[in-house]
Amino acid sequence: MSGILVYALHHDGAFNKNSLGAVSEGARLASELGTECHALVLGEAAGLPDELCASLGRFGATKVFRVEGPEGLAQPIVDAMATVIGDGGHEYALFGGGLLGFEIGAGLSARLDAGVCMEVTNVRVEDAKLVAERPILQDSQVSDVHYASGVGVIIGRLNAFEARESGDADAVVEDVAVEFAPHSLRATMVTRGEQRGADVNIEDADILVAGGRGLGKAEGFEQLEALAGALGGAVAATRAVVDAGWFSYAAQIGQTGKTVSPKLYLAAGISGAIQHKVGMQGSENIVAINKDANAPIFEFADLGIVGDLNKIVPRLTEAVKARKGG
Ligand SMILES: Cc1cc2nc3c(=O)[nH]c(=O)nc-3n(C[C@H](O)[C@H](O)[C@H](O)COP(=O)(O)OP(=O)(O)OC[C@H]3O[C@@H](n4cnc5c(N)ncnc54)[C@H](O)[C@@H]3O)c2cc1C
Repeated sequence: MSGILVYALHHDGAFNKNSLGAVSEGARLASELGTECHALVLGEAAGLPDELCASLGRFGATKVFRVEGPEGLAQPIVDAMATVIGDGGHEYALFGGGLLGFEIGAGLSARLDAGVCMEVTNVRVEDAKLVAERPILQDSQVSDVHYASGVGVIIGRLNAFEARESGDADAVVEDVAVEFAPHSLRATMVTRGEQRGADVNIEDADILVAGGRGLGKAEGFEQLEALAGALGGAVAATRAVVDAGWFSYAAQIGQTGKTVSPKLYLAAGISGAIQHKVGMQGSENIVAINKDANAPIFEFADLGIVGDLNKIVPRLTEAVKARKGG
């Protein structure tokens, strides 16, 4: 057995960044193992032209298995991955993470009786085998996970793997016919879209203005939208405000949300709980506004402002606009 099979999610004629990161990581590991990285894409035939599938070659996939079937649902993808692994003898299946990656990876490991590790932030080669590194105990320690079973399933933490173009070679595209299990076709996709905070992909934004419960109410986000607009950034949120329905889940940062590393992370009315910190601690500069001088966020902020955000944020917005000649 050899080879790494990566699932690549696409939507509207493009692969998502998380999947491209997984393909890049698969290619890096395959090269260290002296094997190949293959990708699997699944969808309606019309939405998967040769050029799109072959473009995964630029991220290091040597072959792309194209499967015609219902797009964006976990079980058909489990069927397809299991079929290709059964035929090709891949030793590892790699996913970029996110809700769909978790669901497919878990289903695949159950189907193949394979070992699975989720929330992986790094993978290394040791004695010609892959070892997955997974943060534990609220990200304070890293555990090593070795695979004892025939196939190892690795599910990354969302965006843990960087998308890297490694050349301009096209991948070979091979069509595979998959017989889907009846239960896999019982769920149907009613509608599909992409939810983004303030129409900007927060994972790509250089500047994030994040709001927490200190905003007091959903309307409190309006002042953050104004500041983010002046700075040319996007708005993010804590779980507390997402759970309260004040802001979209797509913008949630933290353990159960997204991991970001912008140049500037401005946190307003955020206490700095460990579950939030793990999603933004990689930011280059952290600025915190909090009325409580003892708030935990001040322990890891580069610049702390103690005061009422309702007074500071509007003045900051005016100052930024004035500085930019607005
Ligand atoms: C399993 C698990 C997973 C979790 N995952 C996540 C996650 O992914 N992301 C996440 O964010 N949280 C997560 N949490 C929740 C986390 O523990 C915290 O409860 C949450 O981050 C707190 O959000 P907050 O900072 O908005 O609210 P709070 O902790 O209530 O903090 C509000 C802050 O605003 C300040 N404030 C109040 N009024 C003002 C004002 N006028 N001006 C300035 N400051 C003001 C207060 O001093 C306070 O520090 C998770 C929890 C668990 C158990």
